[in-house]
Amino acid sequence: MRFIVSPTAKSWIKVDPLSHFPIQNLPFGMAEVDEENVMAVTRIGDFLVDIYRLIDEGFLPLEELLETDGFSDITREQSTQLRKALFDLFREGNPKLRDNSKLKKEALIPVSELNMVLPMPVGAFVDFYSGINHASNVGKMFRPDMPPLLPNYRHLPVGYNGRASSVVPSDVPIFRPKGQTKAADAESPSFGPTRELDFELEMGFFLAEGNDFGEQIPIERAEGHMLGLCLVNDWSARDVQRWEYQPLGPFLAKSFATSVSPWVVPMDAIEPFRVIGPKQDPEPLPYLQPSGPSHFDICLEVAIQTEAMSAPQVISRTNARELYWSFAQQLAHQTSNGTPTESGDLYASGTISGVEPGSFGSMLELAWRGQKPLVMQETGEERAFIEDGDVVSITGYCEGKGYRVGFGTLSNQVAPSL
Ligand code: CA
Repeated sequence: MRFIVSPTAKSWIKVDPLSHFPIQNLPFGMAEVDEENVMAVTRIGDFLVDIYRLIDEGFLPLEELLETDGFSDITREQSTQLRKALFDLFREGNPKLRDNSKLKKEALIPVSELNMVLPMPVGAFVDFYSGINHASNVGKMFRPDMPPLLPNYRHLPVGYNGRASSVVPSDVPIFRPKGQTKAADAESPSFGPTRELDFELEMGFFLAEGNDFGEQIPIERAEGHMLGLCLVNDWSARDVQRWEYQPLGPFLAKSFATSVSPWVVPMDAIEPFRVIGPKQDPEPLPYLQPSGPSHFDICLEVAIQTEAMSAPQVISRTNARELYWSFAQQLAHQTSNGTPTESGDLYASGTISGVEPGSFGSMLELAWRGQKPLVMQETGEERAFIEDGDVVSITGYCEGKGYRVGFGTLSNQVAPSL
């Protein structure tokens, strides 16, 4: 069952045409009520909608949501039911909640009043490497004497198992990690705060339903297992990475922090923005062959604000359609050996870079390994990597006719090492 809201539909809640949260979106998120309690919410315009309260009052289905850990125990089918009911309650012309001023006041909360937390408790975190322009750029810098892409790259979505325990929401500080590094001209390695802290612009999907031990999720059913997409910043320590990553891949250079946007945007909300991805050559093996377009047209943007600046500066603009491997291909590959996956698992795409320099998804690429530092126009400060006090913000949205379906902002400030 799919539920796609018509592009012309409107809500009785007023929504700015540039808002990421029109009635076409209806994303899933969790807000913090107090130290011990969270509530399941969606967002329309500048209001959070208290889903628990509306279920309690019989205005929404899925009573079981009240007994569970937010969205982690509902199926994709149930999430669609919930969106359908939310749409009906908030569509223009339905007076049921609109004219119930007491309940409306209690169930609609201005977004500025509550902090958002992780949209789901993260069970496992896998990070792919599906951005082909990023993979080529890193190859050129880290292995200049070899072809930029390793021989497997165009045959399978390369990935690694990351650390679920350090997946954090927007607005929490990211502490500069310490690690072991070795300068090219140094005789032996040393240990201390990274000097090359970087962000990685990625998108991810949260699983609604996984597969059992030994089973596979075939590619044509892969998207049906996803609750939706979110923005991901996969923080990285490049000097640590360069020294530690061979032969087994990233380890401590990546596991210290990964931040995700507060909102999981449902697959049905981005369905109108489905596009054909880059041509895959060679043709993937049958288990990775999509039956139709499986990429999405999502504009992505990264901005930095240093402590001396009064406003952020956009440093990169790119698009999720640049990914070589689709989300569906990633999940089909992940489960192709029968490894079980679970509701709440987070799969990130890998850094998304465009072809042009202003569209790269990391500082490593934007400043080309420190050779071309970025200049902050307001203050004249230079940045080769991220410094303490800098705020890195990622945003993303799909552009419809007269409306946007977006992911909000994922924003974190870097704090000195503890
Ligand atoms: Ca990454």
